[in-house]
Amino acid sequence: MDRGRAGPDTATAADIPSLDRLLNTPEFAPLLAQFGHAQVVATLRRHLDGLRQSAIAGDLSSTRLAVAALAQTTSESLASSTQSRLRPVFNLTGTVLHTNFGRALLPDAAVAAVTRAMLAPVNLEFDLDARRRGDRDDIVEDLLRELTGAEAATVVNNNAAAVLLLLNTLAARGEVIVSRGELIEIGDSFRIPDIMRRAGARLVEVGTTNRTHAADYAEAIGRRTALLMKVHTSNYAISGFTASVGIAELSALARAHSLPLAVDLGSGTLIDMKRWGLPKEPTVREAIGAGADVVTFSGDKLLGGPQAGLIVGRADLVRKLKRNPLKRALRVGKLTLAALEAVLGLYRAPEFLGERLTTLRLLLRPADAMRAQAGRLLPVLQGALGKACSVAAAPMTSQIGSGTLPVDTLPSHGFVIRANQGRGRLARLDAMLRGLPVPVTGRIADNALWLDLRCLEERDEAAFAALWKTLHT
Ligand SMILES: *Cc1c(COP(=O)(O)O)cnc(C)c1O
Repeated sequence: MDRGRAGPDTATAADIPSLDRLLNTPEFAPLLAQFGHAQVVATLRRHLDGLRQSAIAGDLSSTRLAVAALAQTTSESLASSTQSRLRPVFNLTGTVLHTNFGRALLPDAAVAAVTRAMLAPVNLEFDLDARRRGDRDDIVEDLLRELTGAEAATVVNNNAAAVLLLLNTLAARGEVIVSRGELIEIGDSFRIPDIMRRAGARLVEVGTTNRTHAADYAEAIGRRTALLMKVHTSNYAISGFTASVGIAELSALARAHSLPLAVDLGSGTLIDMKRWGLPKEPTVREAIGAGADVVTFSGDKLLGGPQAGLIVGRADLVRKLKRNPLKRALRVGKLTLAALEAVLGLYRAPEFLGERLTTLRLLLRPADAMRAQAGRLLPVLQGALGKACSVAAAPMTSQIGSGTLPVDTLPSHGFVIRANQGRGRLARLDAMLRGLPVPVTGRIADNALWLDLRCLEERDEAAFAALWKTLHT
């Protein structure tokens, strides 16, 4: 062997142990036990091929060929390639209900209910009293009736599905009258006119963007009208010279023409948020009380539950929705119903909701809590960032998110990080934070990275601080 030329530690391809021999060593036994034969072989083979390339290039150190070193490298590759693609992150964007981060976090009661439903058979569609087939909506229907005052309820995959089912059932081949001020687009590709078309209904727009009157609806009602619809303009606000028609007035008009009135509330809270000093958002009970025949809303926005679309309203209309074959395609599974039942149950004791419902707890965190947290964490961030960036604790504003109350913001506190030189440095820091074992995501604005501490609860603070100690800028 020609070791002299490249140094005493240089190995050749012939020194690389065989795959079969390595697989039989005690070092590889735990890897085989954890990851299985096929994954270990594929990973190890790739690694040995790489070593062979290094040997040919003359830069293979013999220390890399020790069995323990080979097992270690293989183990690291396997750990990274088998890591879940769905990972916990620190959401420091300041948006509490962030669609990109999965919206509402479920309360402990819901997590326990989901776990139970995953591990054992459940009476999802089995009436235990009557010993016959049941209806999965029964799991939550009584609770929804109690909490909204509606006669009946059904649940589908999300609110977009709820609107689709509603339009397809009540207005296929008919006309639906909607105000021009309410033809919204929500996030990614949910546009009322598109859903309408897919549902087989024809949209009749009335009024103007900023003003719509009852007479506009009345004039548009004709032989083909199937439904009047009101959509909560959740993700934007029109201010200034505006007019819209309230549910009570629309309901009277609908009744006079024997037409149903549907209201898409979007977030649709079950309880008046003003109770906690949060901005007013219309409740489902108010919509039903004002005369809406069907109301749709999301499970994972302000409600604080799992992704779901909730439909409540008149019993005869809900019965029709349930008979539509589309309902079968849009229905939810047992895990969703388990979580939803637990979350709805929390609403029966509203005085504890601010602690027990995670979403509400985050929304209610006072700016002082985040200010104190920023004070505790500032030295940690300063230590981790070194000279490259400067960090300051600063007041900022959080948002509820998911199109809820877009204009109202919540006073908060956090960090503003600025690069000391060059714009590229800030982008690099942002990428490094996203690359941490638990990625940290903030908001980039005004040449700074903003980290809002609202969604970092005290119980996660130590883990967050430890994470910064692993950062190497
Ligand atoms: C969010 C929203 C929807 C869509 O609800 P998903 O649960 O995200 O499907 C529909 N309508 C309104 C008014 C909304 O705010």
